[in-house]
Amino acid sequence: MRIDVISLFPEFVAQCAAFGVVGRAGERGLLSMHGWNPRDYAEGNYRRVDERPFGGGPGMVMLIDPLRAAIRAARAADPAPARVVYLSPQGARLDQAKVRELAGHARLILLCGRYEGVDERLIRAEVDEELSIGDYVLSGGELAAAVVVDAVARLQDGALGDAESAVQDSFEDGLLDCPHYTRPVEHELGGVPEVLMSGNHARIAQWRRQQSLGRTWQRRPDLFDEAALSKADRKLLAA
Ligand code: SAM
Repeated sequence: MRIDVISLFPEFVAQCAAFGVVGRAGERGLLSMHGWNPRDYAEGNYRRVDERPFGGGPGMVMLIDPLRAAIRAARAADPAPARVVYLSPQGARLDQAKVRELAGHARLILLCGRYEGVDERLIRAEVDEELSIGDYVLSGGELAAAVVVDAVARLQDGALGDAESAVQDSFEDGLLDCPHYTRPVEHELGGVPEVLMSGNHARIAQWRRQQSLGRTWQRRPDLFDEAALSKADRKLLAA
């Protein structure tokens, strides 16, 4: 997968993608990252990328032309069609289903705004979708872009040591993940649930499912209400 980042600070996103699973995905050739700075496409001695908003008010707005030129340069760098995503607090909220969908694209172009955001006409002309990482306002889209890069990179085939681990993560089946334990068995903070030491895989799977169901019900009733529960799940809940 190829991801191009349009940003005044493209190195920031590249740096976030240099570690751990995402870094390894890059080393294994599963992900290639490319940064494009709109300032490199800006005119004049000052290479302006922003201007005051029409109608007055505080802050600055990112100019159409340097952004459009950067997006076009990114598109032209590879013949595969790219989906252009503008990271914006006004976009649809990012969730695991959307991450899975994005991870299936051969190319993404992530557009990061700054200041008050970008000229609306650029969004209408060049952007396929707007995505938000939550109901709060960041000072720039770079952290949001880094979130998208991380979430899609770990879903690339071969990125995780054990592909099963992504399937068992929270949200994949609509529920939260179960709790996890590791060595030592005895610790001053407590013991490990006996079932996990039993070696009985069917009982362990049942316990994990029960924990997932219980946690989701307690912590995320919104997810629980939407989850497709089986007869066996209902029995576990009643137990
Ligand atoms: N005036 C804009 C508004 O209220 O909708 C906020 C602009 S914000 C200060 C600057 C940039 O940060 C945005 O253009 C966007 O790229 C990014 N950003 C801020 N919050 C975000 C969020 N929750 N999700 C994704 N991107 C965000």
